[in-house]
Amino acid sequence: MSPASDQSDALYGDVIMAHYRNPRRRARLACPDVETEEFNPFCGDRANLQLRLARSDDAAATVQDVSAVAEGCSIIQASASLLADQVCGRTLEQAADLSQLFRDLMQGKPLPPVAVAELGALEALAVVRRYPVRIKCALLPWVALEEGLRRLR
Ligand code: ZN
Repeated sequence: MSPASDQSDALYGDVIMAHYRNPRRRARLACPDVETEEFNPFCGDRANLQLRLARSDDAAATVQDVSAVAEGCSIIQASASLLADQVCGRTLEQAADLSQLFRDLMQGKPLPPVAVAELGALEALAVVRRYPVRIKCALLPWVALEEGLRRLR
């Protein structure tokens, strides 16, 4: 293990580094219902997101499958991986609510315990608030999600 990664471990914590090293749900989907990509020209971060929905007559559309591929720093990669894990299985409305909660977390808004519970492992990214230039990195995959949800409506 390099000294650099030891330092990142200390800075960002185990959950972020675990998702950075082994990102979830990177496999591309054969037939996504929507695909979005966001790019931050200032640091070169890129997030590509695919969503596939399951629909039934009597229920709201549910996110059945997610593919999230991020390029760039450890924060965007961890955020994309955590997003993919957490959004899978949610309705579009629940996914939008989660995205808003995550923005609130990044902005340092006080969250009630029920909201913290809803965020689950995403709460590990709260540490990013200590490094304000990195907040954009954490949010980029969520911008891609919000654009995808907007197109699906
Ligand atoms: Zn970044």
